[in-house]
Amino acid sequence: MAKTPAKKTPASPRKKKRAAATLGPEKTARLYAALAEDRPAPKTELEYHNPYTLVVAVALSAQATDVGVNKATKKLFEVADTPEKMLALGEEGVAEHIKTIGLWRNKAKNVIALSQRMVDEYDGKVPEKRDELTTLPGVGRKTANVVLNEAFGHETIAVDTHIFRVSNRTGLAPGKTPDEVEAQLERVTPPEFKRGAHHWLILHGRYTCVARKPKCSDCVIADICKFKDKTPDPAKKTSDLGPKGP
Ligand code: SF4
Repeated sequence: MAKTPAKKTPASPRKKKRAAATLGPEKTARLYAALAEDRPAPKTELEYHNPYTLVVAVALSAQATDVGVNKATKKLFEVADTPEKMLALGEEGVAEHIKTIGLWRNKAKNVIALSQRMVDEYDGKVPEKRDELTTLPGVGRKTANVVLNEAFGHETIAVDTHIFRVSNRTGLAPGKTPDEVEAQLERVTPPEFKRGAHHWLILHGRYTCVARKPKCSDCVIADICKFKDKTPDPAKKTSDLGPKGP
């Protein structure tokens, strides 16, 4: 006798809600394709000479702008572009170079401590594994993901404030915490876009989907984005928007 096919378990209300809030595979692929077309060769705006100086630059960039960090590191990296040279410069020497950046005292301490650890444990080289990178003082998961992506070409996505905002507004990867958003992005990002996703999303958040007044009328993914409060096109007068009611 033929077996009665097993009944499909209905999706839980939580799963249904999540599915309704996200874009789905077709729109997700279109979103990345549009961002990739907009910025074909995205890269970090932090200036660095090698993987070591990238680690230092990213660690210094917490609660600071890339422009501010670049100003401070220009001279610093001229004199110290390896952990050994940074140790020779010493904490006070590092502090002198980075005084214009927020939290500089603590950051100078971390730069010296991470350089020391790199020399002691990793032969003066930047480790290429996330769990090793995060043992370095001042290097958290976000910094490690940036370094893995940028310096070693791994398909990691570091969720900063810009990526968090864009992922939630668009419906690409909604989540309450950066870790939740990162896990969602890992799940929904098509393989061919994984390497560039970090840069495309960060640059889109920094220049178009800005925090206060997103530039929705200039946005290449406006037709896909699920954000309810899109900023109206300033060029359109209220009268152009059609009748408001009967
Ligand atoms: S349409 Fe507006 S809210 Fe949506 S991604 Fe573009 S700028 Fe951001």
